[in-house]
Amino acid sequence: MMRRIIKIDQGVAIILSFFKKIIRSVIAEPEQPVAEKVRVYSRAEHNISRSKISENALKVLYRLQKEGFDAYLVGGCVRDLLLGREPKDFDVVTNADPEQVRRVFRNCRIIGRRFRLAHVHFGREVIEVATFRGAADNQHDKQMLNKDGRLLRDNVYGTIEEDVWRRDFTVNALYYNIKDFTVVDYVQGMQDHKNGVLKLIGDPETRFREDPVRMLRAVRFAVKLGFNLDNDCQQAMSKLAGLLSNIPAARLYDEVLKLFLFGYALQTYETLRHYGLFQVLFPATEKSLEQSDEGFPRMLISKALQNSDIRIADGKSITAYFLFAALLWEPVQMLAQQSVANGMPEFLAYQDAANEIISRQVKSTALPRHISLAIREVWSLQPKFNARVGSKPSRLITHPRFRAGYDFLLLRTETGGANPELAQWWDKYQHADEGEQRRMTQPPRKSQGGKSTRRRTYRKKAGSDSSASTEV
Ligand code: ATP
Ligand code: MG
Repeated sequence: MMRRIIKIDQGVAIILSFFKKIIRSVIAEPEQPVAEKVRVYSRAEHNISRSKISENALKVLYRLQKEGFDAYLVGGCVRDLLLGREPKDFDVVTNADPEQVRRVFRNCRIIGRRFRLAHVHFGREVIEVATFRGAADNQHDKQMLNKDGRLLRDNVYGTIEEDVWRRDFTVNALYYNIKDFTVVDYVQGMQDHKNGVLKLIGDPETRFREDPVRMLRAVRFAVKLGFNLDNDCQQAMSKLAGLLSNIPAARLYDEVLKLFLFGYALQTYETLRHYGLFQVLFPATEKSLEQSDEGFPRMLISKALQNSDIRIADGKSITAYFLFAALLWEPVQMLAQQSVANGMPEFLAYQDAANEIISRQVKSTALPRHISLAIREVWSLQPKFNARVGSKPSRLITHPRFRAGYDFLLLRTETGGANPELAQWWDKYQHADEGEQRRMTQPPRKSQGGKSTRRRTYRKKAGSDSSASTEV
């Protein structure tokens, strides 16, 4: 009897273990990179030269090494150095914890609540030193996922083998070891780098769910590096774009700046729209773009982004508020036009529309107060350009945002939204001497036939003009 019970128990155990195996193979645990898979590229096998590394970053690496810690460069700097580009910044990773790092450097500050990092300051340059992050560990509640699979907490220290798994793309997970100048690769990142492929580490859907901002990073890096997004990554993005709406608006504001201020704004914008990401960041704008402008596509955004890319290529600066003013102008204009059609005075209609669109936008991407103020100023200057008689032009020209407002007028002109004659007038006015300026702003004389000068409204293409229904 006893033997039969044992036999039955054994049978049940075998069946259970069989089912466990099946379940495990269905809900496959993400494959973690293991030490055996590591490939180490010797100095002769890669092109990273210390002469291209910031002196301060080298100081930090050598100093950590001298104190007996492991020290690597990692992330964008390794990726960019391999491409022969100048990195934006240098990130160091080590097995020293932030307190240990602080003890090594006097000029060091610890930052971050979720994950503590050390910032080592050298004048204006800051070298970020992170401690290796640990692996996912749900049981110990150090890494928590919400119902969408988003990481809420992620604050355990670990080893390099674990750290690599926390990173986003294979090409961002290459470690340059200061000990022997090798590049350490656990995820075949070097191969992807050579092939120009941007590939997430692990299952794309899981990784995007953990942090949907990775979708924006994917677009930014693909465009910046000229890499192709791997197929699985593309599919997951089209499917999960909506998850971005759960990300705090302040973080999305920072990401939007990174997306649009680095010199490839136009291509980034087109790629974001392609994957349905733009509509999450700028819902009102996306809606306005779906409606043509009296048969013409709305071109102001593309033109603004193209102009800002050219400015960056020429070494000129661009501002966040001008960019947002352009990105939000179409919905403001559409809303204002509706109100004007319903009988609201134009000036009020535009003010109302500006308030409405900004308050909708801050739900998606926060806007710091000084930025939203500046956006409103650029917009509110537009109708003011119509006043060309009397003392108003001389006052307008001293407005602190005159230059930006005028550039915005040019943008509208270039894309059919304002009368080119108006922009030409302001160009001439700015460069004229005082006498000429006075002549230009004199009220028009009555015409000979006794008729008064009629105010004509500029009619763009087939239809009417917008805010600045430009009176000439
Ligand atoms: P950039 O040239 O913009 O600085 P980067 O790759 O260095 O590009 P950072 O934001 O500086 O980007 O991040 C440094 C590294 O940290 C990345 O290369 C990546 O390995 C890791 N990382 C950053 N953000 C994430 C994220 N959201 N998810 C996973 N890993 C990330
Ligand atoms: Mg970086």
